[in-house]
Amino acid sequence: MYETMCQLDRGAFIAGAASALVTSALLTPLWRANASGLVKPQHSSRYVLWLQRMQTGESAAEPFSVDGRSVYMPGYERLCGVLRDLHVPLQEGDVQMSMRTIEALWSVQQYLARAGIQEPIVVHSGYRTPRTNANTEGAARQSYHMWAMAVDFHVPNVAMDYLAAICMACPARGGVGYYPGGWVHLDTGPQRYWSG
Ligand SMILES: [Zn+2]
Repeated sequence: MYETMCQLDRGAFIAGAASALVTSALLTPLWRANASGLVKPQHSSRYVLWLQRMQTGESAAEPFSVDGRSVYMPGYERLCGVLRDLHVPLQEGDVQMSMRTIEALWSVQQYLARAGIQEPIVVHSGYRTPRTNANTEGAARQSYHMWAMAVDFHVPNVAMDYLAAICMACPARGGVGYYPGGWVHLDTGPQRYWSG
């Protein structure tokens, strides 16, 4: 069980997005084919996160919760699989990601959906074993990637500075790293910001 979802539902983040973007929401059919030609699969749950892994192309659009209070394990585990460490064997690299981090990604995607942007979160890096982290250029030694609490990603057709600004506005966020060259880092550790 976890409780941050309800805070997200009440948060100014989602409410603000909804009120600012009513017009585009009315004019934009949900989950039509997007600019990439991809169509997000339909699920009855609203707690669906759509991920794609940059290196392998594998994707998952899965509900991590059905009721917003408890974890839906089959969907959650598939999402964790997309976020695994690709540099080590599966049994070592596929771990349970922080639920708060999953929620933070979901709320960023919800914000974009309300702006009429139907695209997957394309994952560059999720969980990292300490060994992989040590071999990652520029990685912090105490990176939250090693705690399964951080994700590096971009969203197709979304400018990196806009994406970083959305992450900064997300109430569930901890650290946000802005890398203009191609990705944003989002973790759920202490709140901080940096530009890479
Ligand atoms: Zn990162």
